[in-house]
Amino acid sequence: MAILLFRNGVLAHTKTYNNDTLASTSIMDVMRTHYASDITPEMNGDLVTVAGWIHEMRDLGGIYFLVLRDRSGFMQITMVKKKTDPALFDSARRLSRESVILIEGIVKEEEKAPNGYEIIPQTLNVLAESDSPLPMDITGKVGADIDTRLDSRFMDLRQRRSLAIFVIRHHVLQAVRNFLESEGFLEIHTPKVVAAATEGGTALFPITYFNREAFLNQSPQLYKQIMMAAGFDRVYEIGAIFRAEEHDTLRHLNEATSIDIEASFVDQFDVMDILERLIHEVYVHVSHSCAPQLRDLGVEPVIPELPFKRLTYDDALDIATQQGYSTEWGEDFGTAVERAIGNAVGEHYFIIDWPTDTKPYYTHPYENDQAYSRSFDLMHPRMELASGSQRIHSYHLLRQRIEACGLDPDGFDFYLKAFRYGMPPHAGWGLGTERLIMTMLHVENIREVVLFPRDRRRLSP
Ligand code: ATP
Ligand code: MG
Repeated sequence: MAILLFRNGVLAHTKTYNNDTLASTSIMDVMRTHYASDITPEMNGDLVTVAGWIHEMRDLGGIYFLVLRDRSGFMQITMVKKKTDPALFDSARRLSRESVILIEGIVKEEEKAPNGYEIIPQTLNVLAESDSPLPMDITGKVGADIDTRLDSRFMDLRQRRSLAIFVIRHHVLQAVRNFLESEGFLEIHTPKVVAAATEGGTALFPITYFNREAFLNQSPQLYKQIMMAAGFDRVYEIGAIFRAEEHDTLRHLNEATSIDIEASFVDQFDVMDILERLIHEVYVHVSHSCAPQLRDLGVEPVIPELPFKRLTYDDALDIATQQGYSTEWGEDFGTAVERAIGNAVGEHYFIIDWPTDTKPYYTHPYENDQAYSRSFDLMHPRMELASGSQRIHSYHLLRQRIEACGLDPDGFDFYLKAFRYGMPPHAGWGLGTERLIMTMLHVENIREVVLFPRDRRRLSP
């Protein structure tokens, strides 16, 4: 690999490095001083060192423009043939798009350039050449389908739009952590490799654990409840959940990120209150902290008003019927029904008081009418965002419910044991991080808000 080094526009040396010296030389030479966004037209005349990817090049014969891209944005690198060392000018023109270069140059105020400045290079250091043709276009001129994009995800993620989603994802989780900490929650991490299913019914991914069978956990449910027996009072976890269901939809993944909470000495309405305030806080935080990213995406999230509407399951059933969809009492709502109810409501809402049999065994039935449970789903008009409930804390009732659901209580020994020695009343919920983000940003496909999605067909990259 040849590295061209220019000092003050004059070729200082050209040398071929082997891989060892290349690494050390690059590290010595890589001293970036500025991101694109750090530079302003007022810095006219200053010497800066910038680095990034060659986004585009424009050759006007006597003048050559490079658009250099870094995480913060774009900058124009301008070379006028008559004023530039011929070797630098020629080598710059031979560079391939998406190569990584380091440039030392003088800032020049230039109204017509992006951000009002351009950089006149004095040295140009090629750190890594890019092969061509590229696996996909990232300048926005040629669209690519989602599979092409995911196959070359590292390249797809170089796009402003993709970067914006993940900067926002970072801020969403920061807002979640700040909010839950301000409400007295402790962050925990529970095992992802487990011996038993959390709930009956849901397909699990089996794995080999030494000479035994184990599974990837579908939810931290049982462990966060055990933490209530441990007296931790209020806990939250942000972690991977694995669902082996063969979904092929725009809102299901086989590996998703769940935001889970569990709290003691509260009921389902208290944790609904926490949930709606958290959603509100996330929208406010993103609106304030992510203006450039929202601009890149062309969306302006509407901050939802508190409190969210609360429909009972029976109310929701009536709305569905009015919309021409029939659902039997005691059944979960299918996708189309969920959409019809969502369209009728038109904003975030809760569906509360679900039939006990639609919910998992740990869900607390109402004391005066056991057919209904102290449960809720948080809905966005497009889809379900979260499920939660008051949990059963009585050992005997829990055992009964496990049996009534056709499961073997012996498989739940490690869990049931925690209910025998002082388990406080408690409630909690699980919220899908990806669904929260995709609905906030009007993203159609859930795969866009995960770096490396896992779905029925995709296990790589
Ligand atoms: P759905 O009925 O929409 O498939 P669910 O009721 O099976 O969801 P829960 O077990 O209640 O899901 O999980 C709580 C939350 O975790 C969901 O509301 C959703 O936001 C998220 N979630 C669950 N499964 C998935 C998945 N396969 N892909 C993405 N997010 C998921
Ligand atoms: Mg659910």
